[in-house]
Amino acid sequence: MKKCFLDLAKTKEIISKFPTPIHVYDEKGISDNASELYDAFSWNKAGFKEYFAVKATPNPAILKLLRAHGCGLDCSSLAELAIADKLGFKGSDIMFSSNETLAEEYVYAKKLDAIINLDDITHIPFLQKHAGIPEKICLRYNPGGDFCLNKDIMGRPEEAKYGLTRKQLTEAVRELLKLGVKEFGLHAFLASNTVGNDYYPLLARLMFTTVCELMRETNARFTFVNLSGGIGIPYKPDQQKVDIYKVANGVKEAYDSIFVANGYSNIKLFTELGRYMLAPYGGLLTTVIHFKHTYREYVGVDACAANLMRPAIYGAYHHITVLGKENKPLDHVYDVVGSLCENSDKFAINRSLPAIDYGDILFIHDAGAHGHAMGYNYNGKLRSAEVILKKDGAFELIRRAETLDDYFSTLDIYDEFKRS
Ligand SMILES: *Cc1c(COP(=O)(O)O)cnc(C)c1O
Repeated sequence: MKKCFLDLAKTKEIISKFPTPIHVYDEKGISDNASELYDAFSWNKAGFKEYFAVKATPNPAILKLLRAHGCGLDCSSLAELAIADKLGFKGSDIMFSSNETLAEEYVYAKKLDAIINLDDITHIPFLQKHAGIPEKICLRYNPGGDFCLNKDIMGRPEEAKYGLTRKQLTEAVRELLKLGVKEFGLHAFLASNTVGNDYYPLLARLMFTTVCELMRETNARFTFVNLSGGIGIPYKPDQQKVDIYKVANGVKEAYDSIFVANGYSNIKLFTELGRYMLAPYGGLLTTVIHFKHTYREYVGVDACAANLMRPAIYGAYHHITVLGKENKPLDHVYDVVGSLCENSDKFAINRSLPAIDYGDILFIHDAGAHGHAMGYNYNGKLRSAEVILKKDGAFELIRRAETLDDYFSTLDIYDEFKRS
């Protein structure tokens, strides 16, 4: 059974101040999970670091909370670099893992002295021309083919737009050495939302081997390996949480047998997790406002896909708890739907839930990453507020809800739409 970090009483307290729909985050959950990640990788004496993927949850309060645990930021756009900048992140606290990068983004990343992660060999002259080549740089690897664990396909790098081929890696390192690069890193992101404990260890083997080859071929100095994101979470109640200690141990075995055995024991390990750091520790609260009995039983809520897009675009499962009815039998079957003029706007389809009444509050689980952040304004829907539940039980607004003035702000070229 999936548990909520909020009960009905606390939820009522929160929404009396900040009405639904609203995203709520669990400070304790985020902190405990981040501490555990650092503990699991503490064997990497060279200096493990998590660069939180800003795109997952670009909220200043969340980013500061993660920084307190030692995390840096993984940015991939101008706005994400600007958030990092405003919050005082700089230098090797920022990984800039972009693709199809704009010149101005490279200029900004270079100005912040971020670690630039090149997605393609043609970006070398592009970066040189627009921003200059830094002394420390990272390269994104795409090995092609399928990325398989035993016989299961975990990802299809061959179909992914990201990264350099193996041959291009060697060429790129040689070219960058000529341009004065002193320190290299290797990055790869080959599978997304993986379940089980084997993705990182498998990826680590491939990357550590590749780094050893590159060092041998080019004499370049590699100081870090970036395992990027991709560790999944149990969206469904019958799935298991990844055992991060087993994951870290599997990576350690690869590190010892490939790096240490070849005399390299000072290579740092980095991650760029997004989902794993935040998804389970955020929920979307929404109130039931309509019922409809047609070919199915519909529960209409005040949130919609503009607040949480994953079900609509990926058919993703998000567990739903009816607050206050946690222990009631799941003896009704509903489609839980939002108000967009899009039939894909369904948070749940044929879902077994307890009997629902008007005014019930639903907790939509695992909305802490790629939730609010993916929100959009289709149908003129305004994006909801974000609140954090602190460790002491207090709660705090960390982003206000959008207003109509916000929505119309880009129409202020018309007199009728000037801010009222
Ligand atoms: C999206 C992304 C991540 C985070 O992925 P998760 O699946 O949320 O862990 C990390 N690095 C890069 C470059 C990304 O694009």
